[in-house]
Amino acid sequence: MADLRWRIGDEHIVKIWGDRWLPRGHSFLPICPPLPHDTMVSFLLDSARKCWDLGKLQTHLLDVDVDVIRKIPISPCLPSDTLIWHYTRDGRFSVRLACHLQMNLSRIGSYPESSNRGEATRRFWKGVWHLKIPHKIKGFTWKACLNIIPTRDQLWQRRVPIELGCDCCDEAVETLMHCVKECDVAQQVWAASPLPFVTDIRVGYNFYHWVVEVAKQVDEAGLGLFFALCWGLWFARNQAIFNNVKRVATVIVQRVCAHLQEFCQRLLVLWRPLIVREAHGTVLAAMSERLPHWVDADCAEALAAASAIAFAAELGLYHIQLEGDSLSIIKAFHCEDQVLSTFGHILQGAVCTSRCFTSFCCSHVLRNGNKAAHGLARMAGHVTGKRVWRNEVPAELCRIIRAESV
Ligand SMILES: [Zn+2]
Repeated sequence: MADLRWRIGDEHIVKIWGDRWLPRGHSFLPICPPLPHDTMVSFLLDSARKCWDLGKLQTHLLDVDVDVIRKIPISPCLPSDTLIWHYTRDGRFSVRLACHLQMNLSRIGSYPESSNRGEATRRFWKGVWHLKIPHKIKGFTWKACLNIIPTRDQLWQRRVPIELGCDCCDEAVETLMHCVKECDVAQQVWAASPLPFVTDIRVGYNFYHWVVEVAKQVDEAGLGLFFALCWGLWFARNQAIFNNVKRVATVIVQRVCAHLQEFCQRLLVLWRPLIVREAHGTVLAAMSERLPHWVDADCAEALAAASAIAFAAELGLYHIQLEGDSLSIIKAFHCEDQVLSTFGHILQGAVCTSRCFTSFCCSHVLRNGNKAAHGLARMAGHVTGKRVWRNEVPAELCRIIRAESV
């Protein structure tokens, strides 16, 4: 199955370059293989500390792969390696989602040939709107595909008295395609970007046709970067014309990549806050731990739930009610089958630990009902590592809890 990948445990059966395990489509493999072909992924694990061996990762792999691998959670129980379906949240194969994915990957490329143009157009825009890029870049993409970006040729067609030549190179009429593909600075930007091949695609003067061809060669992240760089070129053009800021290709690429990275990190979580209360609400203890790297929200919730259970066991508590604001995590706790999601093995370890309690249940609370935990995360924003409060809970946290209980 093309979209199955391994979730890493510790059974020494997954090879670094022979098996599909990296949570990054389409190859699911690291970029280049400096180690022997049959080296196992377990070679990269520190099995004593039950985490990735950062030294080995940095020695043997490229930084871009190290970033992806560090985000793969490792269960302290080191369960068996498991094959999971990459494109579903619960890790299970779904015919409906597989069809949807197939349409997604071909949706933009199939548009011009589609017999049902209206439906294909709707799918195209739905796909663009689901990309993880800022709204202003989506807005730019929408206008660019409709060819309504106010380039000089467009203004001239609307009878605005304006020079037609490009301000940057002064060698051609300023069309949208000239700005984002053909102008010298655009060529330099693409050459300095991770998508240098897009300038080799010959499509004439229609931006949308270029998008169609690019979409056939990149995944969703690549398409998001492509749109962001087009927007970056247009933004730099405006900065040059209206604010006299010089266009430098490497600066444009770096700024766009940093902008996208910052945007994506806002969708991720770095802290896991925990609060232990008595049945009537008095806080017994609190903990806030900085994760070693950014992880996605569900994964952070799973790690937090596992930490909460370990923390309660450490405090010697017997009757535990776990509250969380992630419905998918709470559902996974109640699932009797094996949980195949990226974080499933973390939860299975937590369920094992929870068997030491006299009673244990978990329930879903709305985010507003969990303000104290999120307040704790905010408070701990400047603290590095793990903070534990027992008996004496911070005054700021007490204030948030009092406000929450009103
Ligand atoms: Zn030019």
